[in-house]
Amino acid sequence: MAYVIAEPCIGTKDAACVAVCPVECIHPTPEEPEFETEKMLYIEPETCIDCGACEPECPVEAIFEEEYVPDKWKDYIRINAEWYEKK
Ligand code: SF4
Ligand code: SF4
Repeated sequence: MAYVIAEPCIGTKDAACVAVCPVECIHPTPEEPEFETEKMLYIEPETCIDCGACEPECPVEAIFEEEYVPDKWKDYIRINAEWYEKK
C-alpha cells in the first residue's frame, strides 16, 4: 500500500509534500531537472512507508491513500508507479 498523487496536482505542483516526506519518495523535487517539464509529482510506491505526512500538506487535496483514491482518479495509482518504472 502507498499514497498516490492524483490529478489536482497538475497546475499546482508546489512541492509542499516533498518537504515533509521522511523517505524522499516524492519526485521530481524542485532540485531535479525533470521538475521543469513534468506536469505533476509522483509517489514511488515501493519506497512510500504509508506515513500520511504528505496528505495534509497538499493545498489542493491531490494526495490519497491508495485504497481511498476516488474512482475518477484510479488511473493515477498506475501513473505514479509507471513514472518510476520508466526510469
Ligand atoms: S505517505 Fe509518507 S512516505 Fe508516503 S509519500 Fe507521503 S510522506 Fe512520503
Ligand atoms: S503538495 Fe499537492 S499540489 Fe503540491 S506538489 Fe504535492 S501533490 Fe502536488
